[in-house]
Amino acid sequence: MTKSQLINELKLNLDRKRHQAQILADQYVQDLCKDDEFKRLYTNYNQAKIDLIKIKYGGSGVDVLEASNAFDKISKLYQEYISSHKIDVRRMEPSYECHKCNDTGAVNGRLCECLKAELNKRLSEQNKQYKFATFADCSPNISPSLTRIYSIAKEWCNKFPNSHILNMNMMGGTGTGKTFLLECMASDLINKGFNVMFTTAFALNDECRKYHFSLPSKVNEYMDCDILVIDDLGCEPLLKNITVEYLFNIINLRQKRYKPTLISTNLTMEDILNRYDDRIFSRLSNKMIALSISFDGIDMRKRF
Ligand SMILES: [Zn+2]
Repeated sequence: MTKSQLINELKLNLDRKRHQAQILADQYVQDLCKDDEFKRLYTNYNQAKIDLIKIKYGGSGVDVLEASNAFDKISKLYQEYISSHKIDVRRMEPSYECHKCNDTGAVNGRLCECLKAELNKRLSEQNKQYKFATFADCSPNISPSLTRIYSIAKEWCNKFPNSHILNMNMMGGTGTGKTFLLECMASDLINKGFNVMFTTAFALNDECRKYHFSLPSKVNEYMDCDILVIDDLGCEPLLKNITVEYLFNIINLRQKRYKPTLISTNLTMEDILNRYDDRIFSRLSNKMIALSISFDGIDMRKRF
């Protein structure tokens, strides 16, 4: 589920919860009102309260004093009734879980902390279904060049989302540890509460095919997630009117939204230009926003 779909779902849940709390409070008051004396006191008390507020905003000093005395009088009778009949006044008002937003999920037009916390919990539950490698799984005996690559990747994760680097390309032959590093980055960012999607180019290509033929697909999730990881770019078949077009649209739209796309590939930049097109090539190779890391000369499989 995408972040915006999750937010909508959580808001609907809150609406239901709020509505339920209101029904419970109304029901409690209605039951109390079956007693005629309570009903009379309750109605008069609320009327006196409204009168007092109205007069405070429009009446003269004498009127205010009069309304205030009337309110005090009925309020005293009402409170006496409540305490002598052991009425739980808290139940007369809807009981909301969050006192910041009264379970609306919003404060001053922004998402409330309660909704944000729930959203992050749901996103990380969604992401934790995968078992990614973590930076803690890295062998301490790696080469200086690999150590340097790891520290660049870690630093980028620590800075996120405040880095000018939007696209990262892990480039080099098979078995050099590109996927391992992407997994470490993904798990680090997931633990920080970001919505990461990790996919292979093959699976992404297939989702694009489904989208192209108006079938349910994950293409919108690829567009929306905070960080998209595409593993093994180049392993997917080239589908006419689909592979290049959709890959470009995804990378380009994400770039416009300042959302990073991390890639691993056995291809060189020249291969990328030849296999896809100059638009994809220019977005992946633009040094202003993209960083390409070469894993060549490193064979992790031999090392472990
Ligand atoms: Zn709240």
